[in-house]
Amino acid sequence: MTPATVLVVDDAAQIRDFVAEYVLRPNGFTVFQADSGEQGLEIARRETLDLVVSDIKMPGLSGIGLAQTLHREQPHLPVILITAEGSEQLAQEALRAHVVDYFIKPFDPEELLASIRRALEARRRPLAVAEQVLATLADPVVVVDAAEQVTLINAAARELFGLAAAPAGVGRLWREVIGPAEAQALLGGDQPTGELLWDDERFFSAVVNRLADGGRVLILHDITALRRAERAKTSFVATIAHDLRSPLTAVLGHVGLIDRFGPVTDAQNTHIRHIRSSVLAMSALLHDLMDLGSMEAGLDSRREAVDPVPLIKKVVDGLRYQAEARQQTLLDHLAGDLPRVLINPVRFRRLITNLVENALKYTPESGRVEVEAYAQEDCLVLRVTDTGIGIAPEDQPRVFEEFFRADHVRQTHLGTGLGLSIVKRIVDDYGGRIWVESRLAEGSRFTVMLPRHMPAERAP
Ligand code: ADP
Repeated sequence: MTPATVLVVDDAAQIRDFVAEYVLRPNGFTVFQADSGEQGLEIARRETLDLVVSDIKMPGLSGIGLAQTLHREQPHLPVILITAEGSEQLAQEALRAHVVDYFIKPFDPEELLASIRRALEARRRPLAVAEQVLATLADPVVVVDAAEQVTLINAAARELFGLAAAPAGVGRLWREVIGPAEAQALLGGDQPTGELLWDDERFFSAVVNRLADGGRVLILHDITALRRAERAKTSFVATIAHDLRSPLTAVLGHVGLIDRFGPVTDAQNTHIRHIRSSVLAMSALLHDLMDLGSMEAGLDSRREAVDPVPLIKKVVDGLRYQAEARQQTLLDHLAGDLPRVLINPVRFRRLITNLVENALKYTPESGRVEVEAYAQEDCLVLRVTDTGIGIAPEDQPRVFEEFFRADHVRQTHLGTGLGLSIVKRIVDDYGGRIWVESRLAEGSRFTVMLPRHMPAERAP
């Protein structure tokens, strides 16, 4: 156990020295001394204390006032008061200030010492239970105090950080105890959650909670098995999607050849059209699944400083024919001098295509779709606005989820429910933001903000 730290507050140096030098220090306590309530409070706020012994009657902040303030600020810090003259009223005030004990001068030093030990023991009891619970936990847990010192580190964390048996690490600065830079960034940073990849390929999800007293708790949870399962699923889906494309291409090819071998009746033609549109829908789904798979697997590391204008124009021009077939107006307003973005051009194209295709798909004949791009601060802003069927308010937060499709489009429009989740993934991967504003039967507007490429940064 680390030695307990006690603060002695008294304006009379004689008593203060006596308690510090003859009662506490010879018994192994670390001692701080203050000659006023104010100074005592300052020390209590600065240092990590285990107990306070204070005189009651002092000029300025009294012992009672000090105990009251400390009870508010550090409710678990025990306070023992000493007074020259005891009275019923004083005893009651001390009780109301939540002090653990109360001595009248002259007092027996042995009794004071016994009282200090009892208070420290009582303070340790809940902590000891918490330590036992944490010791059995498979999740590594580290608690640090406001002074950046480790106050608790459970067995799982000691094993992870390569420390000896308890209480290794306790009382030391956490930066000396927790080695890896990634773990330091988690505990020292201001993100409440994160992930940690360990040298031995173990994956941990991390939570950093702030405590009321200025300390922090780091809790890690091993998600290696989950990650492996996710990876297996991704590669399984990607393999199936890839392998199914060849037979589908064959089906489509053969369907196209049927009328070469003789006349086809109207009824047969209807069936051929159904087969063709189903096969096309299936290959769109496979294409989306493969795309998501390669992004999830992190295979997309290509990045170039892309000029958005020609890319957007190309996408819009490619879809003009589709718009004209349904008498839709498709407009683009691209500001001159648009910032470049550091992105994989194939992904960028996919992002714009998905948004504009959706706008056209979910807008009735004769409707209008506008594609805008402009610079705003350090971002490129892309906006796709349509006069289509709109999205209900309760569906708007869900449209970026995988496989989500609004009820009112299921019967009427073909789709996989993957297009916007791919868009969201691309936007997230490149550090951007996307959101939707929409009103049912009036139209929707999707806005994407992507960080501008700073020429100083290099494409990795
Ligand atoms: P889908 O293949 O169904 O179009 P998406 O992921 O692209 O899949 O879109 C998810 C859902 O969001 C769509 O099914 C539709 O309900 C809604 N949605 C997307 N874009 C629009 C839009 N421009 N107007 C109205 N609804 C839209």
